[in-house]
Amino acid sequence: MTPQDNTIDHDTDLDRALLEALATAKGYRLATRCKSCGHWLTSARSRAAHQGPKCRRKAVGK
Ligand SMILES: [Zn+2]
Repeated sequence: MTPQDNTIDHDTDLDRALLEALATAKGYRLATRCKSCGHWLTSARSRAAHQGPKCRRKAVGK
């Protein structure tokens, strides 16, 4: 574990908003990988969950 893990919650709404604003300003698009299948996700909802719609539905149905 690094000191950063203790001090920074890397998945807060504020961090996402900042990243989004910075990326948009620079002409980038943010993406995260699905934690289940590794597929790249670009929609805000999928990125927030770190999981694509299909895998999210599967996880809920478990
Ligand atoms: Zn997936």
